[in-house]
Amino acid sequence: MGIVKLNDRRRFLRLSAAGSLAAAASADIVPAGSGYANPRKVLLWESTRKEFRDLIEGGSLDAMILPTGSTEQHNEHLAMINDTASVTLVAQKAALSLYPRVMVATPVPVGISPHWMDRKGTLTLKRETFLAVVFEICESLQVHGVKKILILNGHGGNVIPLRESVTEFSRKLGIRIEINSYWDAYTPDIVKKYMEAGKAPGHAGEFETSFAMAAFPERVHWEGVDYAKAKTKLKIKEAASAIQDEEFARDAKLASTAKGEAMIDIAVKWTANRLRQLIAA
Ligand SMILES: [Zn+2]
Repeated sequence: MGIVKLNDRRRFLRLSAAGSLAAAASADIVPAGSGYANPRKVLLWESTRKEFRDLIEGGSLDAMILPTGSTEQHNEHLAMINDTASVTLVAQKAALSLYPRVMVATPVPVGISPHWMDRKGTLTLKRETFLAVVFEICESLQVHGVKKILILNGHGGNVIPLRESVTEFSRKLGIRIEINSYWDAYTPDIVKKYMEAGKAPGHAGEFETSFAMAAFPERVHWEGVDYAKAKTKLKIKEAASAIQDEEFARDAKLASTAKGEAMIDIAVKWTANRLRQLIAA
């Protein structure tokens, strides 16, 4: 029956990972009355219209999180959905900690990634396309009565366009919309304490690999990876980018599940705190 002890953190992380939505949706985490909610309940796309209507019309839903991610190359060993899956996991866990005051809207799974297009598999949207999708999701939520939205970003290329647009989005829709990337949680001291390479978020390096190992190890594929061999097949246009690619591949070897768990925990608590501030504002 999928009853999971809440202190079994690893299992919970895996169950609630974005890519294991079916598992998360069907898992009864803890019996009713224990103060914990089924992780499905905070996900808009897994809810029925009745469930959502009850929350919004009952006045218990104070804010929503809109995760924005990417589908892009993550070096030789991580799945392309990494950023979307990571940010959705942080969003879901933060929302669960505030249940039933916060829900997570359907993540935007493709971001602005032209800088990775010379590496196979990357998908990218034009800035205006991406921003239009984000805006229209916010607009949909506003139509249903949502008054506060935290856009929680998980991909570097989306940061500046989102920062430059949220004020206008808020003004146009007459609601409060704020933007953070989940790694805003990581102060230089935190990065120094947990990351041997001294970097976070980086790209498919120590941090993202540790996060994936902790949250969704099924998306980490070291089997058959030989970076030295792969290098000859990569046709990276810019020299600096090629050097960075190699550096991230080296850093990834420092990754561990324990580091990932610690960093996830920090991001979830920080995001929940940001939501408390947004709700109070
Ligand atoms: Zn990434």
